Amino acid sequence: MSKPHKLRDFVVDFTRLIDRNLDEPTILAEGRKLVANLVATDDWLPDAYAQPGPNQYQQYLLHADPLERFSVVSFVWGPGQKTPIHDHTVWGIVGILRGAETGVAYALKPGGSFDTGPTERLERGEVVAVSPDLGDIHVIANAYDDRPSISIHVYGGNIGAIRRSVFDPVSGARSPFISGYSNATIPNLWDRSRD
Ligand code: FE
Repeated sequence: MSKPHKLRDFVVDFTRLIDRNLDEPTILAEGRKLVANLVATDDWLPDAYAQPGPNQYQQYLLHADPLERFSVVSFVWGPGQKTPIHDHTVWGIVGILRGAETGVAYALKPGGSFDTGPTERLERGEVVAVSPDLGDIHVIANAYDDRPSISIHVYGGNIGAIRRSVFDPVSGARSPFISGYSNATIPNLWDRSRD
């Protein structure tokens, strides 16, 4: 289950994309193609970064740009697990690698409560984007209650370190949130002796 060169190639291609100093719509348009290509085959994610947790979804950092212009994360949902209602504050691109997920968009109303969008089902290989311009508040859940699902996320910053928010579903009240990461070590993409 591991052809780590695919992740390395993706990191190189995404670094080249970010180096072009493009506007956000162009980064998302070009970045979506790169993510779609990465999640088109499920044969590269090392098992250590594909392990669900018993109580909560896991977020494994796969790569952080040294200038923190972007990060690549595998999100692993155990059966029935989901995120709280949360925002990002930076752009994000999500591609489904394994299983299926559901997404629900939320829009804060002036009074504090939410307008809730429809439940959107994301199948393996599909790619979606979020950003403060496109709609930045959502819940992502495993579509399955009997198996894990995994998606690969790319964000316009070091997402685990960014100050953002989670929201109370009824009142809309905002609480500070810094997600961190589930892993202390990242995949070694650079041992080319294995190629
Ligand atoms: Fe999210």
